[in-house]
Amino acid sequence: MKPRERSEVPAEDRWDLSDLYASQEDWERDLARLKEFPDRIVRWKGRLDESPETLGSAIRELLDQLRLADKVRTYASLRSDQDLSDPMASDMVARQAASAAKLASARSFFLPEVMALPDEVMRSWMDSDALKPYRTWLEEQLRFKAHILSADEEKLLAMSREATRGFHNSFGKLSNVDMSQRLPEIELEDGRAKLTNANLVSLLESESRQQRERVFRGYYGELSGNLNTMASLLDGHVRSAVFYARARGFDSALHASLFGDRVPVELLDTLIETTTEHLPVLHRYYGLRRRIMGLKRLAMYDLYVPLVRPPKNSYSFEEALELVLEALAPLGEEYVELAGEGLRGGWIDKYENRGKRSGAYSDGCYDSPPYILHNFTGTLRSVFTLAHELGHSMHTLLSNRAQPYHTSDYRILVAEVASTTNEMLLLDHLLKSSPEQTKAYLLDHLVGDFRGTVFRQVMFTELERMLYERVESGAGLTSNYVGDIYMKLIEKYRGDTFAYDETDRMISTEWGRIPHLYYNFYTYKYATGMASAVHMSQMILSGGSETPESYLELLSSGCSKPPLELLGQAGVELTRPDTVRAAMGKMDEVVSELEDLLT
Ligand SMILES: [Zn+2]
Repeated sequence: MKPRERSEVPAEDRWDLSDLYASQEDWERDLARLKEFPDRIVRWKGRLDESPETLGSAIRELLDQLRLADKVRTYASLRSDQDLSDPMASDMVARQAASAAKLASARSFFLPEVMALPDEVMRSWMDSDALKPYRTWLEEQLRFKAHILSADEEKLLAMSREATRGFHNSFGKLSNVDMSQRLPEIELEDGRAKLTNANLVSLLESESRQQRERVFRGYYGELSGNLNTMASLLDGHVRSAVFYARARGFDSALHASLFGDRVPVELLDTLIETTTEHLPVLHRYYGLRRRIMGLKRLAMYDLYVPLVRPPKNSYSFEEALELVLEALAPLGEEYVELAGEGLRGGWIDKYENRGKRSGAYSDGCYDSPPYILHNFTGTLRSVFTLAHELGHSMHTLLSNRAQPYHTSDYRILVAEVASTTNEMLLLDHLLKSSPEQTKAYLLDHLVGDFRGTVFRQVMFTELERMLYERVESGAGLTSNYVGDIYMKLIEKYRGDTFAYDETDRMISTEWGRIPHLYYNFYTYKYATGMASAVHMSQMILSGGSETPESYLELLSSGCSKPPLELLGQAGVELTRPDTVRAAMGKMDEVVSELEDLLT
């Protein structure tokens, strides 16, 4: 079926952007104001050390500018995403981006000038009435002071970025363009298809084992011809991250990456150790998969076939909404009411139309409702996506309501807890009322999430630690070295259900297709996000009297405190093994239930 034109979608199915700007003219007026901002902010240049009052006024001006720039950006971006083929909206995005860039460059003096204030002066100013409201914000900026270099050195570092970001770019070009073009055509059960990075996983979901093997060998065979280049790019990337960390005086590249979120290195140790402790649960699942598939040994290409077919039921949007709101009842009446009013009152763009961005997201700013872009199709997956994005939107709403602008923006480490907790509550609700087939599907899906979001990401974290330690010890990354440690990790995480024959061993090249290895210790956040959400939902559902309140408090806290402190106040202690253990306990339970249902 061809998607509708945007103009054919009824108003009640579209988001209502008039809550952000009543008209295009209003937006144009704010964009025009934005253009005056660079002149206004540079007027403060050289004056920030005058007095706490001057600094306070300058900070207010800076924050007001950032706030309006975000409002202008949000509107242009949403307008564009609702129909990417609308030239008017693309033009709005481009004009807004150009003013934002001018603004960024005009205010580049600001933080260095704040940092240049002597510590004793800053300390004595901090408690003044003028600066008190900005204390948290200022302290957060000043934390970086010890790692900021002289103006000349900073200039050199900024210039060097142009050269060093080439490694990540080249990886993208090699993986998505050059190698992609050379990927072979594969004989499928029903015709032939050219392999791509995008269709690899869906082709591996086929019921036909011969097809899966051909796809697997075709892909990894081609990848293996690129590994020397891949290793050299990765080596270059890791070396540059190590270089910047050392230049800024961090103990290691890992310390540099964790600094922004104030995460101690030990958190990663605990995460890896606790996950390792629980690998037998994952291995048990692979054993179950082998038995259900009726195989002597599992092969690497047997991991993507769904064990249970998705249930056929289809939900209308209104049914999905009802279901999600019922599932969120444990969070209290106020949460459910606000969510229901928002979703019925224009937060969400429900269905696909021609030119609309695919996928789903939650996006908004301090001065807008927390909008949701969805492409709702009526499947169970689509209902989960609604619950997920609603979690982000409610987090935005509650933080915006409770916090001033400059502490409203929550961090990623907390963000995925808000969304995934909702998914877990929906899952629990559905499990109580579903027939066995649907139940098995939901549980298998949850195991898939655990595999992809916890185990696999922890494995990448472990890999990254080894890669960085090697480079920091003075050695380099070769394709043999990376392939060997990758294969050892695969054997550790997948256990002895696999034959590890010649075809299986082709997986030792998989590191060469993982873009996250260029994100500098990002993957652990996926794992802690899911583990925290599982633990959180367990606490909420077990009816501990304070839990929903402390959870809502977390959602209302923005970035007013460091993320681990906020999570800790809500009962999720990531520096101790408890949270990951609780999540693994759930995984264990789910695998047992699947064993009962499927064998
Ligand atoms: Zn999310």
